[in-house]
Parts: sequence; C-alpha cells; structure tokens
Amino acid sequence: GPKGSSGPKLFCVSGAVNRPGCFEAAMDITCEELVMGDRFGRWMAGGVPVKAVFPGGISMGVLAANELKMKMDFDDPRNYGLLGLGTAAAVVVNAETDIRRVLLNVTRFYAHESCGQCTQCREGTSWMYKIASRIAMGAGRMEDLDLLEEVAGNMGMMPGLSICGLPDGATFPIRGIVKKFRGELEEHIRAQEPGRAEGVLAMLN
Ligand code: SF4
Repeated sequence: GPKGSSGPKLFCVSGAVNRPGCFEAAMDITCEELVMGDRFGRWMAGGVPVKAVFPGGISMGVLAANELKMKMDFDDPRNYGLLGLGTAAAVVVNAETDIRRVLLNVTRFYAHESCGQCTQCREGTSWMYKIASRIAMGAGRMEDLDLLEEVAGNMGMMPGLSICGLPDGATFPIRGIVKKFRGELEEHIRAQEPGRAEGVLAMLN
C-alpha cells in the first residue's frame, strides 16, 4: 500500500453489487475497484449504475458516483470530505434508490443508537430523524436542508459537546448526503404537492 497505509487489510462491500463479501487486499485499491473489480464486488447488480457509496461504513460519510477514484487508504478519504477510512466496509447504493430513503435510514439509525446522556446528541439525532421523515413522506421544505446542516454542525466531540463520538459519526453522512445530493433532494421537494409540508407541520405541532 501507499506510504502511511502499508500492509494488507480486510475490505468489505455490501449493498447493490454482484458479489457482496469481505476481501483481503493491499491498501492501494480504489473504492471503484472494491465495488466493480473482479476480485471484489464484481460490478453493480443488474447493471444498475451506482449512485453513492459509503466507503468506510455510514459513519465516515458518503461518496457520489463521480468520486469513486478515492483510494481506500488512511489519507485519501479526507480529500473527499470523509471522516476517515473507518471500517473499510463499503455500503453501495444504486441509482434507482431514492436518496430521501437513504437519508431516512441513516438518521433513524443514529436516533436509535444515541444513548441519550448528552443533550445535543439525544435531541439532535432525533430532530434530524424527524426532519428526514418529513422529507421522505413528501413534506419537506427547502429550509430543512439548511436546518439539517445546522443541527449536524452543532453536535459531537469535534465541537467538544459530547461524551463519545457517536454524533460525529452521525453528522458526516448526513452532511455529506445534503451537500452531495442536494440537487436531488431539492427536486423531490419542488415536486411535492403545494402546502403539504405546512399541513404536516401544523398537524405535528
Ligand atoms: S454522545 Fe455518546 S454518550 Fe452522549 S448521548 Fe450520544 S451516544 Fe450517548
């Protein structure tokens, strides 16, 4: 592998590929090789194009389809706005998947996992889950995307607010989805029935 990332490593790939599994390789492979390579994931299942890859498990953040040249080493992930290499267990999402469902699953997971000791983690993860739920049900507002970024930017050990790193792991994928797939999220919100977001909010309040 490259300097600073020497030695073999176990890489996993799961999701929308032909051959999910765990593979040993040198640390000079790219994310694209892990997903598409004959020795690894063997291309996308059904030939459906890739939409996104969470290359280090969801906590590390997300790559868009045009970022798969990222090296699966300890340094390159930071060049793509990721927290790090993480578990090197890539989760692959295909182009037929609604990004709102991905956002919903990610936020639901962290809201469930928060143990509740730290206020910003307990409240922030469940707040983001509620916002993502509204967006997924076709009742999102454009300002919800900024709100998600704002909430995610005020949680975790990095700003010195929490006991453990769970909220940092929560915010990288959420901020990544909003940043890298904002156009798709905005398209969904624009296509909603007018007044639906306000109606759902009034009902919830
Ligand atoms: S930051 Fe860690 S300790 Fe604090 S509430 Fe979240 S999961 Fe619990």
